[in-house]
Amino acid sequence: MGDDDLARLRPATRLVHGGLAPRDFHGFVNPPVVHASTVLFPSAQVMRAGHQRYTYGNSGTPTMDALEAAMNDLEGSERTVLCPSGSAACTVALAAVTKAGDRVLVVDNVYYPTRRFCDRFLSRFGVTVEYVDPTDVEGIARAFKRSNAPPVAALFLETPGSLTFEVPDVPALVALARDAGALVLLDNTWATPLYFRALDYGVDLVIHAATKYLAGHADLLLGTVSGNGKPIAAVRRTSLDWGENVAPDDVFATLRGLRTLDVRLERHQRNARIVAEWLAADSRVHRVLYPALPGDAFHAIFKRDFTGASGLFAFTLKGPQERADRVVNALRIFSIGASWGGFESLASSPDIARARSFTRWPVDEAVVRLSIGLEDPHDLIADLDGALSAG
Ligand SMILES: *Cc1c(COP(=O)(O)O)cnc(C)c1O
Repeated sequence: MGDDDLARLRPATRLVHGGLAPRDFHGFVNPPVVHASTVLFPSAQVMRAGHQRYTYGNSGTPTMDALEAAMNDLEGSERTVLCPSGSAACTVALAAVTKAGDRVLVVDNVYYPTRRFCDRFLSRFGVTVEYVDPTDVEGIARAFKRSNAPPVAALFLETPGSLTFEVPDVPALVALARDAGALVLLDNTWATPLYFRALDYGVDLVIHAATKYLAGHADLLLGTVSGNGKPIAAVRRTSLDWGENVAPDDVFATLRGLRTLDVRLERHQRNARIVAEWLAADSRVHRVLYPALPGDAFHAIFKRDFTGASGLFAFTLKGPQERADRVVNALRIFSIGASWGGFESLASSPDIARARSFTRWPVDEAVVRLSIGLEDPHDLIADLDGALSAG
């Protein structure tokens, strides 16, 4: 099927067929896993001219092409750059669009390693980093216009925040950035391209930790950055300058993960909804932070912009962090671990206050974050019921 045919079809169909080119590979459905550094040329002149389709292991392979094409199709982008991890995708994108003397606005609930990169790396290279409240459009408007500060080159968003699930008003923030001549970068890992098509909302570079739902099996790290024109060309150049490369087996496994993304997410979403509703009705729970629930503070924006919810959310308990720790330690089916989006349920009790510098998280509200896997949700509820009694 050609790219033009594919673009007219619905997302679930495109997920199945994106990036496939069986005629290029003797009819085999999937592309080969090409392990490569050297690519050979027929002559010295051809090598010097650099026009051959493939030239070196990190400048593209048929395996990488297949995943890039599938992602371009899902995101509606012209180009996708594969990165060795989701973190690498965030950092290479930020580095590509900033230079000394610029300012970047970063949402205060941003994924912590992205914050660390801004504070430890970008600031060392003369970029001013300013954290903003993702929910305060007027505050962000003022930050853009601040007269005694360097001009804003980029606004970095994450939707929703992956610990406490605030949903920023992306169209409103994109409009502010456009007025200021700034680019918008968005970490879209939670929704995946199936549930939020960021480029359709005017975002310039959309980033995924493919490690999570896209690959979906907790067995690899990979990142993607997708976009159009100059911004994505700059990302590609920076990734080459940094000598980044991706492991062919991981690219292949991510492509395999993509084929089942629609069915997996449907079940993650259904399970998460059942568990979240149960938690919301339990008197031991203070709040459930899941934009898909009608009672959630961000439900209206969520409903307007997203076509579905994935299975990562949080709930809170009144009391100190230790209360959340006790609940997490008492879980039996949920394992304790970083990352999310795999088939298995995970729990953690993040220290929210430590990861923020602009907004405040109440000290007497402890957070338990859950990544709801593909288990039977009633077993998960029984597990949570027992663990809450330990809290
Ligand atoms: C996990 C995660 C990343 C980083 O992905 P890695 O592949 O683990 O480096 C980036 N952003 C968000 C929102 C994440 O949850």
